[in-house]
Amino acid sequence: MKYFEPELTPDDDLPAQSSLQDQFGGLPWGLPPERWPLCASCGGPQSLLAQLRHHRERLDLGNEGRVLFVFACNDDSSRCPTRDRNSGASCCLVAEQGELAQGCTLPPLAQAFPQRRLDRWLGEQVHPAWRVVRWYEREDGIPESYPGSFGLNPDVPDGYDEKEYEGYWSEVSQQTRLGGVPFWIQRPEPPPESRFVGQIDSNCCQAFGDNGIGYIFLSGPASAPRGWFLWQCT
Ligand SMILES: [Zn+2]
Repeated sequence: MKYFEPELTPDDDLPAQSSLQDQFGGLPWGLPPERWPLCASCGGPQSLLAQLRHHRERLDLGNEGRVLFVFACNDDSSRCPTRDRNSGASCCLVAEQGELAQGCTLPPLAQAFPQRRLDRWLGEQVHPAWRVVRWYEREDGIPESYPGSFGLNPDVPDGYDEKEYEGYWSEVSQQTRLGGVPFWIQRPEPPPESRFVGQIDSNCCQAFGDNGIGYIFLSGPASAPRGWFLWQCT
């Protein structure tokens, strides 16, 4: 199966951003403030983990110009249960091109989130920004038809060769990427009727426990895709 690995450069080393780009960490570009996800556990704004544009091969969001935003509460400071996809402490949303504004977005101010809290949040909870300067296309050698697409089935599928299975398994990358099959650290936890979109390792934003991996899934029809995020660690 084909998958895509990003080459990341710190935002500070690049010319100032003037349009929406694929990015990990930092502040989202053009996200309407009213769509900024708040953490169901602590009530604070969640922090951006990734902002990724629709691409027919790399990230099929069902429509040109759509953008996937992945957020999670910065649990380094909050200790919120971001690992659980149903916790409301993380969020994965798809925005339409027409919804997006120009420029970086800040979380909306509210009575419970006044300017002084925003100032502190900006200093403490925004992850360092990394921009994707290039995507590399890779091939893991796993046939699309292989049952269970790994992850979804952690054991050798019935009637299949163990050595072949282990050979494929050893090719599953643990790094940040789009496409391919998930590298599950624990038992697979795919959301029902979803498809794997990509994973985020612990090198650019959150540690996800200790050296964990965050997983991105999409479900629902192409007209209204719904995103999911969860993570695992050893
Ligand atoms: Zn929280």
